[in-house]
Amino acid sequence: MLRLTDVRKGFPVRSTGEELWAVDGVSFEVERGEILGIVGESGCGKSTTAKLIVRLEDASSGSIHLAGNELVGVSDRDLGWLRRTAQLVFQDPYASLNPRLRVGAAIAEVLRVHERTQRGKEERDRVNELLGLVGLSADFASRYPHELSGGQRQRVGIARALAVEPELLVLDEPLSALDVSVQAEIVNLLKRLRTELGLTYVFISHDLGMVRHLCDRIAVMYLGQIVEIGPWSQVADAALHPYTQALHAAVPLPDPELEASRESRPVPGELPDPANPPPGCRFHTRCPLAEDVCRRDDPPLVRLGTDHDVACHVVAREHGVCTDDLTAGGHPNQPDDPSERAEHP
Ligand code: SF4
Repeated sequence: MLRLTDVRKGFPVRSTGEELWAVDGVSFEVERGEILGIVGESGCGKSTTAKLIVRLEDASSGSIHLAGNELVGVSDRDLGWLRRTAQLVFQDPYASLNPRLRVGAAIAEVLRVHERTQRGKEERDRVNELLGLVGLSADFASRYPHELSGGQRQRVGIARALAVEPELLVLDEPLSALDVSVQAEIVNLLKRLRTELGLTYVFISHDLGMVRHLCDRIAVMYLGQIVEIGPWSQVADAALHPYTQALHAAVPLPDPELEASRESRPVPGELPDPANPPPGCRFHTRCPLAEDVCRRDDPPLVRLGTDHDVACHVVAREHGVCTDDLTAGGHPNQPDDPSERAEHP
């Protein structure tokens, strides 16, 4: 469904005239019907990656293939198909909804722009059908955004995205503005929609604890690069990269008593300036395992298990892989047969 190959996106830094590489050599693929989670701290490049996939930004180099079509460098005029294939769901649906438009009109607006239905009864029926799909009754069509809860607004945002019958939804932190109980409801909704409509998701989040409940595979980004990617069961429960392990340690435990008895363990140190990343492994300024080679050489992403890739000199060596002869930033191994990937319960 989606394949990114060595994608880079730079933004000019006015004060220095240099380039800030928000996304720096990212490669991954997403199978049709799969959910890939992309996690990392603020500023790691995950939201820029989301924008590149739906072409709100154009990549500086590399290749992005979506449903068999190249996106990079193609003029906007030739991307009409993209809006019908991939849709972005925003973090704050309130900001993306016109406060003066009732919910029904907001959904109908999308149907009209993309000429999906005839005005009148067909349009009203489709609006009601979309509301039903996201678990809202037809009564919601006459309400204004300010009359809705955060979870209801996010459901409307998803209904608007579904109005064009896309194959891929890119969800950029869709849960972060919601209460924990509402987050679980939206996760269940997304699971149901994936099954009913055969959708593919790229799910962006800073919360490793949340993506483990939804995603088939998880990619962890740090300062514009993927440092670990693999099945949720391995990245969530048997993380190998020191940064992923630090993210795990920072996830609050669901049991309040256990959480209170535990020492809070945020990821140590500060995120370096993305405009001036450290040489070698970008995580070496915060990594408890850093060695000389880490300060010198950028570790390549290497395959250390079934469909499980990690960019770390020390972890690779512990698995009997020498990183000396490999080039950083690429995928030295071909992806495994997707049918071998772990099913999410
Ligand atoms: Fe830490 Fe070195 Fe691995 Fe980077 S390469 S994560 S600094 S051990």
